[in-house]
Amino acid sequence: MAIDVRPETAAPPEQNPNRLKKLVIIGICVIAAGSLLCLGFTPMVFSGIVQSMRDSAENAQEGCGSLGFTVDDDVKIDGLAADQLQNAATIVGVGQKMQVPPRGWVIALATALQESLLHNYTVATDHDSVGLFQQRPSSGWGNAPATATDTRTPAQRLADPSYASAKFYEKLLRQPGWNQRRLAEVAQAVQISAFPERYARWESFATLLVNRLTKGAANGVVATQGDPIRCATPGQITGAGWTVPALGQVGSGFRPPDRPSHQGVDIIVPRFTVIHAASAGIVITSKCNASTGNCDVDGGISVKGCGWYVEIAHTSGLTTRYCHMVERPLVQVGQTVVAGQPLGRVGSSGNSSGPHLHFETRVNGDAVNPIPFMAARGAPLGTRQ
Ligand SMILES: [Zn+2]
Repeated sequence: MAIDVRPETAAPPEQNPNRLKKLVIIGICVIAAGSLLCLGFTPMVFSGIVQSMRDSAENAQEGCGSLGFTVDDDVKIDGLAADQLQNAATIVGVGQKMQVPPRGWVIALATALQESLLHNYTVATDHDSVGLFQQRPSSGWGNAPATATDTRTPAQRLADPSYASAKFYEKLLRQPGWNQRRLAEVAQAVQISAFPERYARWESFATLLVNRLTKGAANGVVATQGDPIRCATPGQITGAGWTVPALGQVGSGFRPPDRPSHQGVDIIVPRFTVIHAASAGIVITSKCNASTGNCDVDGGISVKGCGWYVEIAHTSGLTTRYCHMVERPLVQVGQTVVAGQPLGRVGSSGNSSGPHLHFETRVNGDAVNPIPFMAARGAPLGTRQ
């Protein structure tokens, strides 16, 4: 399919007080540049935008995206100037041409946001780091000519956004399991940065950017080379990096009137069904929680607690919780898990009247309704295939 990236049609920034304020903050970052000085607070600038997008469930309504896009009046992101938006579009466009799945576009954008705030630095500002990804000729980046007639120096090549993006993707695709692993881990494997965890802070914003540029492709997958984008099926990892933990009908919902303290949803699945990590992260809880002290037998409505359960910390203050497992979980505290990794099996331990998965999603510790939360990440709960 055609890819239409048209720099000349990039819209002039819409001027309003909020936008100006954000642009001023970005401006300060750029002046302070090397971009390192502003890293502590720039993700905060965008987090409000990302959250409001999620609240409006825009991502969920967008479908699963499309190949080919234009950067025009329809695409605006508060806080991004025209050059930043254009560079983002170039990164996504190169990923599409190379048939990299959408998860790769999110990882590439998060990396470039961290390295350059999507400004193309054509002159080295930090050692010999150049361009959107701050790649270094002294580390071998830029040595390969783009074509037989490419006589540019490595630094000149790396200052070309299309070239730099292609080289990023080439190395990304060589990382085993890259689309299931934590973004920080994969970006670090490509970039070898001194501050690997900083990439992760941009994951939500990078996801938003991909969705805006491609009408929701962060909700989709490209299963094999040449396929069009389609919605992720259970077990597949979306561009946003999420998958469904267990495929089944949703029984009791989030805080219904008769159960206002029910902080998650109950997915009705048979005993011993494998429970999958909804996204990559680090295990922060793996234990038995039952007022009887015994999770190896079925609980009941008079028993308090989650039973055998696991909790995972993802990026951006997000956590997920999986309760009532039939036996001790398969993962331990401190362990890094990839998206879709088996965590344990369904049971009825703790406060449970029959086998099911009680699944919670939390933002900064506060439980939120998993139905829109998962839909916004392209991995809706329920029985839909
Ligand atoms: Zn429940």
